[in-house]
Amino acid sequence: MFEFGCATATDAEVFETRNPARHSERVGRYGAVTPQDVAGHVTAARRAQRDWAALPVTARLHRVGAFVDAVAAQADAIARAITREQGKPLAEARGETAKSLDEARQMLAIAGQPLGAVHASARPGVLPMSMRRPRGVIAAITPWNFPILTPMRKVIPALAFGNAILLKPSELAPAAAFLMAEAGRDLLPEGLLQLLPGDGALGAALVASGAEGVTFTGSVGTGQAVFRAAAESLAELSLELGGKNAALIHDAPDLDACLDQISAAAFLCSGQRCTAISRVIVPRDLAEAVTEGLVARAEALVPGDGFAQGVTLGPLVSADQRARVDALVQQARAAGARLCTGGGAPDDPALSEGHFYAPTILDRMDAGNPAAREEIFGPVISVLASDSLEHAFALLNDTDFGLTSALFSTDACVINRFIAESGSGMLHVNHGTTPDSNMPFVGIRNSGVGACSVGPGAAAFYTTEHAVYLGTP
Ligand code: NAD
Repeated sequence: MFEFGCATATDAEVFETRNPARHSERVGRYGAVTPQDVAGHVTAARRAQRDWAALPVTARLHRVGAFVDAVAAQADAIARAITREQGKPLAEARGETAKSLDEARQMLAIAGQPLGAVHASARPGVLPMSMRRPRGVIAAITPWNFPILTPMRKVIPALAFGNAILLKPSELAPAAAFLMAEAGRDLLPEGLLQLLPGDGALGAALVASGAEGVTFTGSVGTGQAVFRAAAESLAELSLELGGKNAALIHDAPDLDACLDQISAAAFLCSGQRCTAISRVIVPRDLAEAVTEGLVARAEALVPGDGFAQGVTLGPLVSADQRARVDALVQQARAAGARLCTGGGAPDDPALSEGHFYAPTILDRMDAGNPAAREEIFGPVISVLASDSLEHAFALLNDTDFGLTSALFSTDACVINRFIAESGSGMLHVNHGTTPDSNMPFVGIRNSGVGACSVGPGAAAFYTTEHAVYLGTP
């Protein structure tokens, strides 16, 4: 069992996590940091950050690189912790860990690039320049669905750009983030990277702590609360929120390959991904074939303990999450959707102790159906039939979210229109919705606020920009 921070915590402050595949199995015990303790952590972070920011950039990047190597040396332990505490199959947990390391290395290269410019001079004897400096102390709050990827996506750029960071991982799956921080213990100055276990009250205290930057990944409702609270201190903000992502099939010469991509994008992490495809928009005359193809793929998935050979679908993270997914599926049926497969716990009695939900396909619904509008965050695909290209594009953009979307088409005009009009931050043509490690990770409208966390744009959040006028005496 994992144990972090319990030695100095009172019994009331200790919380536990359990294996979502087998609820009786305890996985971790954590000593929660109380909201009153946050100020002390910020002071320690501020002290460490001053010296860290003064290091030459190459020396700083060398040390963060050594930290990334130390995390890589723990990759297998981290992946196993994810499977035990969050539930995803081990191969997926290994893939998540590898991606987090890949993104980290890309970010190190980006942070070594020039961060300023020499501008045209408007006055004799004055050289105007712009430059960027570390922002200061960063408060980071992460969800449970990617227990290593999301923390690393915040920790590495924060450190690489010269900041200290206080990270509160989700209380449902903190082990991977703790293993990551442990790997850096002897490599980073004390106080520079601090892990603060706890619940939403601790998250709220962190947002109000006076940190210069607040980066949050999670649900829209919590993101709105974070936005309101950050306004008090005018902290710089980066919010990565939910999605209701669609795949629009216009023409797919190889329908099998197209449905393989969609079903992978929908069911990875049991659909608990902000970038999961959850709506499939398809011309009405193709709808039955698409539904049948998706049902076959859903029924071919093997639910079970993520450590077992051959398992391709883990449990949902908690009983609450399963109840939420099921409530939305039942509301969708009550509002007229047809249930084509799934719609409840799998039949296998061996799975009854875990929070499993059978992969579910719904179709024949109108655009107002809850399954067409709400972020379900479970293994559920809604198939929506369109009557024309106009109708298909109207359905595509009929959502408050704006994270990611996919188009399957060979028609250049339709592809151009999709690139110009799809109301999401990430646009995929003829493949699923998995983003690359060096590309901006962008959500617009209800899916995100502020600079993106991956790629060169991250500098806008982790640094402040300055105008410098270099005069002659
Ligand atoms: P959540 O909003 O419930 O919790 C996220 C984090 O916020 C947790 O660490 C939680 O303890 C903390 N928190 C709760 N109340 C808080 C408050 N008042 N102030 C500050 N922090 C608070 O989200 P979740 O259920 O953990 O994660 C699922 C959601 O995350 C989904 O909506 C999903 O789409 C979204 N998500 C988005 C991205 C993205 O990059 N866009 C990535 C992963 C997940």
